[in-house]
Amino acid sequence: WHQRLLGGFKRTSDRLVGNLAGLGTARLDDDTLDEIEEALIASDLGPQTAARIRARLAEGSFERDMEELGIRLVVAEEIEKTLAKVAKPLEIEAFPRPQVLLVIGVNGSGKTTTIAKLAHLLQEQDYGVMLAAGDTFRAAAIGQLQTWADRVGVELVKGPEGGDAAGIVFEAVKRATDKGIDALIVDTAGRLQNKRELMDELAKIRRVLGRINPASPHDVVLVLDATTGQNALSQIEVFKEVAGVTGLVMTKLDGTARGGVLVAAAEKYGLPIHAIGVGEKIDDLRPFDPKEVARIIA
Ligand code: GDP
Repeated sequence: WHQRLLGGFKRTSDRLVGNLAGLGTARLDDDTLDEIEEALIASDLGPQTAARIRARLAEGSFERDMEELGIRLVVAEEIEKTLAKVAKPLEIEAFPRPQVLLVIGVNGSGKTTTIAKLAHLLQEQDYGVMLAAGDTFRAAAIGQLQTWADRVGVELVKGPEGGDAAGIVFEAVKRATDKGIDALIVDTAGRLQNKRELMDELAKIRRVLGRINPASPHDVVLVLDATTGQNALSQIEVFKEVAGVTGLVMTKLDGTARGGVLVAAAEKYGLPIHAIGVGEKIDDLRPFDPKEVARIIA
């Protein structure tokens, strides 16, 4: 899967390395620093990371000419620093039981697949897992989640299409409690086209959960599609407002992704990144390794 990760960061890396190579052995004067900063921004790494790296390169210790490789080393170090602060695998705590993980994100982001992958991952760690079909808007979503639940071998609590999502979540918590389940993963609607409705629905789910246990939901995991590039950042913005977000999973970091946005998101929001998706199969959810990603990019 390292190979696939190389693919996911290829666009970011090609642009960055290509632009830096174009500079040759650069005297790090203001013009060159500007060019480097632009190259970093063009690689989706975000203006904050770019400004920080520029500042680091401008420090006295680099006043002499600097080779492309040296610059890349500094870039990689700074990216790693940014990512190390947010790399944080999901943890199942002793309390509350069940720990409720609300999974949010726009349709098509890979939410359903990620829920299945998470369920599989937690099961492998010997946790009892249950799913709840809180996206009652799309019949296909419920069916798809059922297929994954069967494949993974976990119970799915679901209702009819168009049913009350909060009611299903309430029912699921009750059942999970009775069965001594450790982690209840809740799918939610992803209709960002109707923000008000989505906001109300998610708020209602949160209210129901909070009434059962004030510490619930423990996690609100936003699923982001890395192929949408900078658009992923505006999704963080919206979902923070709509539902509150405690952590991220970035999907599709294989193929044609613009992986640099992972760095931009880490820098701008500092939200924990729990895992990354590198394929469509059940074990294609991976913890992410800041050093590995930093080296791939730079
Ligand atoms: P949802 O609408 O957000 O629930 O999205 P789905 O889970 O149905 O995923 C949408 C599409 O993205 C499906 O074809 C998935 O197989 C695919 N997908 C999900 N995660 C990944 C990933 O990490 N890598 C790749 N290449 N495809 C993914």
